[in-house]
Amino acid sequence: MSGWSGWRLQQAPMIFDPAQYPNAVTIGYLIEHGMALEVHCLKCGRFRTMAPAETGIPPETPVPALAGRFKCSRCGSRETEARPHYQR
Ligand SMILES: [Zn+2]
Repeated sequence: MSGWSGWRLQQAPMIFDPAQYPNAVTIGYLIEHGMALEVHCLKCGRFRTMAPAETGIPPETPVPALAGRFKCSRCGSRETEARPHYQR
Protein backbone atom coordinates (compact mmCIF):
# COMPACT_ATOMS: atom_id res chain seq x y z
CA MET A 1 0.00 0.00 0.00
CA SER A 2 2.69 2.46 -1.01
CA GLY A 3 0.30 5.16 -2.13
CA TRP A 4 -1.28 5.69 1.23
CA SER A 5 1.45 7.09 3.41
CA GLY A 6 0.25 10.22 5.08
CA TRP A 7 -3.36 10.12 4.03
CA ARG A 8 -6.18 8.31 5.64
CA LEU A 9 -9.46 7.48 4.05
CA GLN A 10 -12.33 8.06 6.40
CA GLN A 11 -14.12 4.89 7.34
CA ALA A 12 -17.54 6.47 6.98
CA PRO A 13 -19.70 4.82 4.33
CA MET A 14 -19.72 6.42 0.92
CA ILE A 15 -22.96 8.25 0.65
CA PHE A 16 -23.46 10.17 -2.53
CA ASP A 17 -26.12 10.82 -5.08
CA PRO A 18 -24.89 9.72 -8.52
CA ALA A 19 -27.36 12.11 -10.12
CA GLN A 20 -25.39 14.93 -8.56
CA TYR A 21 -22.35 13.98 -10.64
CA PRO A 22 -23.78 13.18 -14.08
CA ASN A 23 -20.55 13.75 -16.02
CA ALA A 24 -18.03 13.00 -13.33
CA VAL A 25 -15.08 10.74 -13.88
CA THR A 26 -15.30 7.64 -11.71
CA ILE A 27 -12.66 5.63 -9.91
CA GLY A 28 -13.30 2.82 -12.40
CA TYR A 29 -12.57 5.18 -15.28
CA LEU A 30 -9.22 6.11 -13.76
CA ILE A 31 -8.28 2.46 -13.27
CA GLU A 32 -9.35 1.61 -16.79
CA HIS A 33 -7.26 4.41 -18.27
CA GLY A 34 -4.26 3.92 -16.02
CA MET A 35 -4.74 7.34 -14.46
CA ALA A 36 -3.78 8.35 -10.95
CA LEU A 37 -5.99 9.90 -8.32
CA GLU A 38 -4.93 13.26 -6.90
CA VAL A 39 -5.91 14.26 -3.40
CA HIS A 40 -5.49 17.89 -2.37
CA CYS A 41 -5.64 19.48 1.05
CA LEU A 42 -7.48 22.78 0.67
CA LYS A 43 -6.09 24.10 3.92
CA CYS A 44 -2.32 23.67 3.63
CA GLY A 45 -2.05 22.96 -0.08
CA ARG A 46 -0.46 19.56 0.26
CA PHE A 47 -1.35 17.05 -2.39
CA ARG A 48 -0.36 13.64 -3.53
CA THR A 49 -1.24 11.18 -6.21
CA MET A 50 -2.15 7.59 -5.62
CA ALA A 51 -3.15 4.54 -7.59
CA PRO A 52 -6.95 4.34 -7.53
CA ALA A 53 -6.86 0.53 -7.62
CA GLU A 54 -5.00 0.51 -4.30
CA THR A 55 -7.55 2.64 -2.50
CA GLY A 56 -10.28 0.01 -2.31
CA ILE A 57 -12.81 2.67 -3.29
CA PRO A 58 -15.72 1.19 -5.27
CA PRO A 59 -15.15 1.73 -9.04
CA GLU A 60 -18.56 3.35 -9.53
CA THR A 61 -17.66 6.16 -7.13
CA PRO A 62 -17.49 9.58 -8.81
CA VAL A 63 -14.14 11.21 -8.06
CA PRO A 64 -15.70 14.53 -6.87
CA ALA A 65 -17.75 12.56 -4.33
CA LEU A 66 -14.51 11.85 -2.46
CA ALA A 67 -14.26 15.45 -1.30
CA GLY A 68 -13.83 15.46 2.45
CA ARG A 69 -13.16 11.73 2.58
CA PHE A 70 -9.45 12.06 3.15
CA LYS A 71 -7.68 13.50 6.11
CA CYS A 72 -4.47 15.43 5.62
CA SER A 73 -1.62 14.08 7.72
CA ARG A 74 0.23 17.39 7.81
CA CYS A 75 -2.47 19.73 9.13
CA GLY A 76 -5.18 17.25 10.07
CA SER A 77 -7.76 19.00 7.93
CA ARG A 78 -10.59 17.12 6.31
CA GLU A 79 -11.07 19.90 3.81
CA THR A 80 -9.73 17.74 1.04
CA GLU A 81 -10.61 17.32 -2.56
CA ALA A 82 -10.04 14.53 -5.06
CA ARG A 83 -9.55 14.92 -8.78
CA PRO A 84 -8.22 12.94 -11.71
CA HIS A 85 -4.50 13.30 -12.33
CA TYR A 86 -4.02 14.32 -15.93
CA GLN A 87 -0.59 13.61 -17.33
CA ARG A 88 1.03 16.36 -19.30
ZN1 LIG B 1 -3.26 19.88 5.05
